[in-house]
Parts: sequence; structure tokens; C-alpha cells
Amino acid sequence: MNTERFISRRVAQVPPSGIRKFFDIASEMKDAISLGVGEPDFVTPWNIRESAIFSMERGHTHYTSNHGQLSLRKLVSLYLETRFGTRYSPESEMVITVGASEALDLAFRAIMEPGDEVLVPAPSYVSYMPGVTFAGGTPVAIETKEEDDFIMTEQGIAAAITPKTKAIVIPYPNNPTGAIMTKEQLAGIVDIIVKNDLLVISDEIYAELTYGGKQHVSIASFPEIYPRCVVINGFSKAFAMTGFRLGYAAGPRPVIDAMVKIHQYSMLCASVMSQYAGEEALKHEMETGFAQVEKMVKSYDQRRRFMLDALGGIGLGAFEPRGAFYIFPNISGTGLSSEEFCFRLIEEKKVACVPGTAFGEAGEGFMRCSYASSMENLKEAVKRIGEFVDSL
Ligand code: PLP
Repeated sequence: MNTERFISRRVAQVPPSGIRKFFDIASEMKDAISLGVGEPDFVTPWNIRESAIFSMERGHTHYTSNHGQLSLRKLVSLYLETRFGTRYSPESEMVITVGASEALDLAFRAIMEPGDEVLVPAPSYVSYMPGVTFAGGTPVAIETKEEDDFIMTEQGIAAAITPKTKAIVIPYPNNPTGAIMTKEQLAGIVDIIVKNDLLVISDEIYAELTYGGKQHVSIASFPEIYPRCVVINGFSKAFAMTGFRLGYAAGPRPVIDAMVKIHQYSMLCASVMSQYAGEEALKHEMETGFAQVEKMVKSYDQRRRFMLDALGGIGLGAFEPRGAFYIFPNISGTGLSSEEFCFRLIEEKKVACVPGTAFGEAGEGFMRCSYASSMENLKEAVKRIGEFVDSL
């Protein structure tokens, strides 16, 4: 029987994630080094793990409110205000989700009508375009360029806007480029967003991971943008909690209400143990001046600087990443396409990186290396990459 005919065309048209492919090859190869995975190499801090264990011991094993526990929402609200100067009502302008991933999915599904277009900068995180497509909309890529530090510009946005454009994704600090947008750079795109009446979906999951004294600025902190912006964030990256699957969205009540409507019929609520762990993560960090987060950021920063220098040393110049934990070297000088380069690199030298094209066509000529790996691994990986480049 041909069961493929049951599959929705909308789903069938989307290719599988280009990240997993390389990760799967590496996981089956002896002595392979993977710089392909997008998650912290730290184990979740003990106090956070312990709070999840305690919550179970105390018998907290039930559903929570669809919005998430109010005690957690209050802490998220305080966190967003103290860290980024944006105020959200914990009662009505926030929903706790199963990772930032669910929050993104809810945001797209809550707003899409068939034919609606969503502007998505590229290269960027692999889920935005499929998420828009699954929700019935049409993603429209805006190419960001290395020579512009991979930021979005007013001209780039203007060129992509049509009468069907409904929303824009702002993904900074950026995966895979490590680009951030400063307050001045964000100010440069405020007018065009407002003039074209766009909803902003701002993915700020890497907000805590910035380097070189550059603090994250939320585009929602612009008064003109605030009423039209859904901020997406979560616990995976800053608190090394990927396996807890905990995230949230904050924004205007009508959009959050619509997102909660989908969430209550699909997920019901995020895991209750994870919600207790999230409370501990925020409470502890706010009480201790973000000491644990700072320690992890310092360690990523050391590795970031090592990778920037070491890749430069083997002739692969890279844009200096200022956020997240990725570096995006330019490999176009080797004459290989991104896919060819990464396939041959893993086959010949057992190093897994992700081709830039996994993040959109605009990623051709680049590859993504995650530096959330031990210094020993990074040194060995760069040595092998250097040997590979020399052999070409
Ligand atoms: N947004 C970006 C930019 C990411 O890189 C990721 C994960 O890699 C996510 C969202 C998903 O995060 P979560 O683990 O909270 O679902």
C-alpha cells in the first residue's frame, strides 16, 4: 500500500533538518569529533537538577495551569524586566511552553492565514521556515551578509516586503552566525516594521550568551515595537537545560491568548518538574548576580576566542561571533560547496560540522562549528580541519 499518499503536501515538501544528518554520521563513527550539536556541553547546574528531584519527592506530579505555574511566570516577568527592561503581566501576557521550539510553533500557528508571508533572515535557525510552512504560511528569506556582520538592514527588509507580509522573525543573538544586533542597529529597522504594520517574533534564546562586553538588547524594549512583538525565550541555552524542554513566550495579550488556545488543546502544559527547575534557575541566578551563567559565558568566551584565532591560523577566516556558541567560518576559498566540504571533512577527518546551507541558501560558502565542546576537542578538530584544507 502506498501510505505516502496520506502525508500532507505541506509536510512532505519540507526537507529533514540538515543538522541531524551530520550528527547521525558522527555518532556512529569511532574517534569522530562533533562540532555539530547546538547545545551546551555543561550538565545542568546541581541546584536546578535538585529542585526537579525535590518537586517529585514532594508529590508535584500533576498538570499545571495551561499558562504555566503562576510562580514561574512571576519570576520570568521579573527576569525580563530586570535584564532587558521589558514588562509583561505574568497573569495575561505570558505562556510557559515545551522549549522555545513550542513557543515558536505556537506563534506561527496563532497568526497564519494561507498565503500570509513571514520574513525570515537567512542564514538562521533551521526551524523558522518549516514552522511557518507547517502553519500554512509562506516563509520569505532575507539574505544577511558577512560584510554587513550578518545583521538585518532596512534595505534588506524593504526589498522583501509585499502586501502579504504579516510578520518578521528577529533572531539575535543568531544561530548559526553568532551575530548580534546592537541597539543602534535595531533602531534602524524599527520604522520599516511599524510602517508596514508587521508583527515581530523575536527569538532571544541566546540573550544571556553575549561576549566582548556586548549586552543583548531586546527589540521589544523599543516602545514602538513592544505592542507588536512576541518575545520567545527559554532555559535550554543560558542554564544548560536542553533536556528539560522549558521555554516561554511573552507579548501582547491577544496573541498570547491565541497561542494558549493551541497550547491547551495540544500540550496542556509544560512538564511540572521542569517548571520547578526553571523557578530555581531564575531565582538562584537573580539572587547571585547570574554567577553560574557568567561562569559558563566566560568559558564559552575563551573557546570562542580560541576558535577565531585557530581557524584564522589555518586560513579559514571567520566573522567574529558576538553571541550564542557558534562560529561560521567562510570556506568559499577552498572551492568546495558547503555540503561537499562537510561531507568530505567527516569522511576523511572524522570532524562533524554543519554546512551553512542547512540554515538557508544564504549559508553557501560557510559552515557552522559549535564551540560548546571541550578545549581538547576543539584543538584536535581544528588540527584535523587544517590538514583537510591543506590536502585540497
Ligand atoms: N531558537 C534557536 C535560535 C535555537 O538555536 C534553538 C535550539 O537550538 C531553539 C530556538 C530551540 O530551543 P529549545 O531547546 O528551547 O526548544
